[in-house]
Amino acid sequence: MKDKIYDLQKKFENDIVNAKSVKEVEQLKIVYLGRKSPIQALMNGLRDAKPEDRPAIGKVINDLKEEVSQKLSEKLESLTQQELAGRIEGESVDVSLPGRRSFFGRKHPIIQMLDETIDILIGMGFSVKYSPEIESEYYNYGGLNYPPDHPARDMQDTFYLSEEYLLRSHTTSIQQHMLENAKPPIRIISPGKCYRNETITARSHVFFFQLDVLYIDKNVTFADLLATKEEFFTKVFNQKIEMRVRPSYFPFVEPGMEVDIRCTCCGGKGCAVCKKTGWLEVSGAGMVHPNVLKAGGLDPEVYSGFAWGGGIERLFMLRHGIKDIRLFTENDMRFLSQFN
Ligand SMILES: [Zn+2]
Repeated sequence: MKDKIYDLQKKFENDIVNAKSVKEVEQLKIVYLGRKSPIQALMNGLRDAKPEDRPAIGKVINDLKEEVSQKLSEKLESLTQQELAGRIEGESVDVSLPGRRSFFGRKHPIIQMLDETIDILIGMGFSVKYSPEIESEYYNYGGLNYPPDHPARDMQDTFYLSEEYLLRSHTTSIQQHMLENAKPPIRIISPGKCYRNETITARSHVFFFQLDVLYIDKNVTFADLLATKEEFFTKVFNQKIEMRVRPSYFPFVEPGMEVDIRCTCCGGKGCAVCKKTGWLEVSGAGMVHPNVLKAGGLDPEVYSGFAWGGGIERLFMLRHGIKDIRLFTENDMRFLSQFN
């Protein structure tokens, strides 16, 4: 047994001196310390030794194992250093070459705008609620007082996934979810992506981001709506704004209106952004329709509310004088990097 150990030791000394690369040392590690190694075989052979000899022989084998293991590690360490140094030496650095610029990831302009509008409204006491992008016809239309034959339900405007399900066409779809799950006061905003089956042009896209605002409580008035909107747009455009409302029709509000603000580019004199009108159309709004309240289990004689919503792309376009909505989805860095 002792001779075996001695021979093994000699052989290992020889092998390790001759190992010239990290790869070779790693192979030696398998040969000498692996499951089928001679050292392991010696360990296994311990069973056959006389019981009184076992501790002494065991110690010799263990010492050998430790020695082998330590020498392998040392050799590995020094060869790794050498190989690394060799590699660095082999590379030359041309200090006259321009450096490689690394780019940081940044938020897309639309997400920046969305974050900003959410922050403003949270500051005004609203909390954020999300509705599903795949929605049932009820939450997207029926529960919002759309008559069954309303043209917006038509296949031309809506991406239907089945008879019952569709891709939400507006974030107003949050309303019946809220009425089912919360009691007034309900004071929420619902941001998200919406889908409409429209031709992609400079002004419209098949998907876009919207933000809906909903406030339901006792005694919510039209004046609350106007004041909230004015405060919001003042903060978005960072200037005192002038607002006007025009009657309009949305099934889920009564009365419904379009809200315009005095053109922030020309101050009302007329320019390309406002198409010479002096006004910018920024959002649809109105008082929550009694039928919507009723469908949500609230008595319209007791509760009232306001709702408004608008496109995030449009807000951003107005603020920065951008004329083509397609720029947001073309991933042209020359465009995107202007807003970071
Ligand atoms: Zn203008």
